[in-house]
Amino acid sequence: MMASAQRPEVVVIGAGISGLCAAYELTNNANEISPRVTVIDAAHRVGGNIQPLDFGSRVLDGGPDGVLARRPEFLQLCSELGIASDIVPIAARGAAVYARGVLRPLPDGLIMGIPTDTAALQASKILSRRGFLRVLRDRFAPVPSSRGALQDRAIGNLVGTKLGKEVVATLVDPMLGGINAGRVSEMSAAAVYPPLLAAAQERGSLMAALKAQLPTPGQDGADEETPAFQSLYSGLFSLATTLKDLLASRGVTFLLDTAITDVRYNPKVAPCWSVNSLETTTRADAVIVALPAARAAALLRDLDQELSALLSTIETASVAIITMEVSEGTLAFPETGTGVLVPPETPLPNGDFAGERFLMTALTFLDRKWPHLKKPGTFLFRVHMGRSDDERTLTMSDEELVARACEELRLLTGTPPDLLNVSVTRWPASLPQYQVNHLMRVAAIEQGAQRSPGLFVAGNSYTGIGVPACIASGRTAGSNARHLLTQGR
Ligand SMILES: Cc1cc2nc3c(=O)[nH]c(=O)nc-3n(C[C@H](O)[C@H](O)[C@H](O)COP(=O)(O)OP(=O)(O)OC[C@H]3O[C@@H](n4cnc5c(N)ncnc54)[C@H](O)[C@@H]3O)c2cc1C
Repeated sequence: MMASAQRPEVVVIGAGISGLCAAYELTNNANEISPRVTVIDAAHRVGGNIQPLDFGSRVLDGGPDGVLARRPEFLQLCSELGIASDIVPIAARGAAVYARGVLRPLPDGLIMGIPTDTAALQASKILSRRGFLRVLRDRFAPVPSSRGALQDRAIGNLVGTKLGKEVVATLVDPMLGGINAGRVSEMSAAAVYPPLLAAAQERGSLMAALKAQLPTPGQDGADEETPAFQSLYSGLFSLATTLKDLLASRGVTFLLDTAITDVRYNPKVAPCWSVNSLETTTRADAVIVALPAARAAALLRDLDQELSALLSTIETASVAIITMEVSEGTLAFPETGTGVLVPPETPLPNGDFAGERFLMTALTFLDRKWPHLKKPGTFLFRVHMGRSDDERTLTMSDEELVARACEELRLLTGTPPDLLNVSVTRWPASLPQYQVNHLMRVAAIEQGAQRSPGLFVAGNSYTGIGVPACIASGRTAGSNARHLLTQGR
């Protein structure tokens, strides 16, 4: 493919962290002629899900508030941007689960919610006696594994077969399903937690096989002192603004408040791509579509129906987050830990909504995780609501969501919260669901994109939902596009 001029043009659609990182990588090599880059976003500001939340006198993170420290991409990017000194490690460990009517601390030895320490599990009293005995069977008479290699399987199915349904419902679904606002009955082991797929195909105990895969302390940075998560003192949202400022100084153009409606390719003209909104057309030699897959599907429908159909198979979940501040000590939360998990099918035991399922999926204790957010005498936390199979938040008003959260908090702690400050943030269709055979779908999408020279996709729908995976996805797309334009594919 020929670049149209000395400086090729690239359009990045989407200014979430994936799109910003794609633009960063496109303009990151001082030794080459950088492409001219335009970043286009429908929203008024950059960052996508990474957004600030005005909360009283403070600005908090409205979306993601911490990143997995085990992956290197966040630290690497912060170092390159000169903001590594702004990184703050998480200050709390452990969590509780609402199990059998009580908040109970999670036991040691959980790997993605899957127990590996039966003594700790028994002491936690999280499972019924019957549920615990079913787990114990894995140690003494494990259920045989399937014959032949599995390409993929639902996490719920793999764990349920080996350890029973109760452990899935009470621990694995709230923990692993909860992170992605999905259900482990649908979730791909190969895409979300490949070590589980491997361990479940071992002959004997699943717990032993999983444990054997864990790095021993001292290896792979695995030690008690290494924090699991990190954030930024200035808020994770500041990563997006830092990137935007740097990109602007490199000459990148930002076109905000511009919703792209379609993308066209005509090899007979140069530049061969046109990226269209209702009011604008931007021409380019290459296009990086850094949008959630369903949005990408809509833009690419006329260009490649097969690719568009594949993209639209990646479903999303809608969630709402209610940030609350109460007087310290007024709610009977566990004294330590990062928060509380609520298993998906848990019914409300009494009150106005008795018998309905909890809408809350988790609580996270913001100022315990990040003590620099602490205000003396107050307690700051978030209530997470909604999952892939629970879209009730979409039809409820903010007032209804807050009232419902207060009632559910009353049931968990015995007291309704006396709110000093509250804010509702909605995230419709924001969390992609990696269902069984997700990796096959992604491989087909990547192949499909290659049918149109100069088209690349990036974002949280493909190879990881967390911020570090999105940084990697964006940088890879940016680097591939730059390589194509400077050296040919
Ligand atoms: C509530 C919530 C909490 C989360 N918490 C964490 C966490 O604590 N840690 C973690 O690692 N990850 C977390 N995640 C996941 C992580 O934040 C996201 O996966 C990541 O930010 C996605 O980045 P992205 O750039 O791929 O997509 P997005 O952030 O979705 O960006 C896509 C951009 O495309 C724009 N756009 C959409 N359609 C169009 C169009 N037609 N034309 C132009 N622009 C368009 C949007 O405006 C948006 O700016 C969380 C996600 C959510 C929703």
